Amino acid sequence: MRLLAGFDVGGTKLSLALADLEGKIVLRRREATDTAADRFAEYRDGLAYLGLSTQMSRLLRKGLEETGGSLAAIGIGSAGPLKEGCIYNSTNIKLARLPRGCQGKPLYIPMVGPLEEEFRIPVRLENDCTAAVLGEVYFGVGKDVMDKRSLHLVYITLSTGFGAGVWDGGHLLRGKDGNAAEVGHFVVKEGGLKCGCGNYGCAEAYCSGTGIANNARMRLVKENLRPREGYGAELLRLAEQKASVSRSEGSGHRWELLEHITAPLVFAAAQAGDRLAREVIEEACHYAGIALADIANAYDPQVITVGGPLPLEHLEMVDRMREEMLRHLNVLPPEVRLTPLRDAVVEHGALVLAREAAAG
Ligand SMILES: [Zn+2]
Repeated sequence: MRLLAGFDVGGTKLSLALADLEGKIVLRRREATDTAADRFAEYRDGLAYLGLSTQMSRLLRKGLEETGGSLAAIGIGSAGPLKEGCIYNSTNIKLARLPRGCQGKPLYIPMVGPLEEEFRIPVRLENDCTAAVLGEVYFGVGKDVMDKRSLHLVYITLSTGFGAGVWDGGHLLRGKDGNAAEVGHFVVKEGGLKCGCGNYGCAEAYCSGTGIANNARMRLVKENLRPREGYGAELLRLAEQKASVSRSEGSGHRWELLEHITAPLVFAAAQAGDRLAREVIEEACHYAGIALADIANAYDPQVITVGGPLPLEHLEMVDRMREEMLRHLNVLPPEVRLTPLRDAVVEHGALVLAREAAAG
C-alpha cells in the first residue's frame, strides 16, 4: 500500500499519522519530542540540532514496518518560526542543553533536508496552524463542502502558544515568510503582561498555557507569596504538593514553588474555587475573546474553529470567548466552535500537505 506520512511537531509532543492516498489514517503514533539528544552540527551561520529529525525518521521507519506500506510523500506541520525547511530560533521548542560556547548562536532544527535525503520522496513543511487549517478544510468542518472556494475559515489553537491559520475562499493565507496570522501577538492590552516575543500585552501573554501560568505567578508575587485564604492559597498549596512529589529531600525556597505553577494547575485551583486562579482564567478568556473579534474583523470568516489542549479540556472557555468576541464585532458574527478533529487536526493538515506533494 502507498502511504502518506503526516507529522505534528510540537514543543512537547511529536505525532505521526500514516494514511492511504485518500487520507484515511491507518496508524497514529505519539511520543514526547526529543529535545535532549546530544546531536549537533555546525550549520550555515550557526548550529543545527539533529535530534528531532533522527526521532522523526525512527518513528516513521517503525510505522512503515508495522503497516508494511511504502511511502509516497511526507507532510509536516510544525511549531515555528520556520526558515528554509528548519525550525529557526524557536521559543516554543526548548532544547535541554546546547554544546559549550554555542549560546546565542542561530539555532536551526532541520527537518525537510534530512527526511528528503533519507527517504528520497517529496517533503512539505508548513507552520502548525497553517497545516491545521488545511486539515480543517479537507477533513474537518469543510469536509463535506465540495467547492472549497466557498469556504472562509479560521482555525485557532490555544496551547503552549496561541496561533491561527486562515483559509479564505480557496486560498491559504501564508504571508511573505509563511508566518501570516500571528494572532497570538495581536496587542490586546497596551502595557500589559510581558510576552515570550519580548513585547507587552500580546494576547498570547494572557490566553496561552504559558501566559496563564505566568499571569498566575505574577499575581502570587504581588501577594508576596503569602496569599489570602480563597485568593491564591489553594493554587500555592497545589504547587507545594507538586513540588514535594518532584523533590526527593529537604524543602526548597518558597519562591521555587513558582516554577511548579502550570496552566493545568491554575485550572485545578479555579475548579476548587480559588479566586486568584479564576481571575487568571477569566482574563485568558476575555483577551482571547478580544483576539477572536480582531480575527473576525480582519478575515470575516464563516467559522472559527478552536483547538489545542486548553479549550479541548475546558470546553467552557469557548462559550466565554465567543461572548466576549460578540462585544467587539464590526462584521456579521462567525460561528465559533471546537474543531471536530480534536487533537489530530495538525496531523490531518500535514497529510493534506503530503497528498499535495505526492501529486506533484
Ligand atoms: Zn507577543
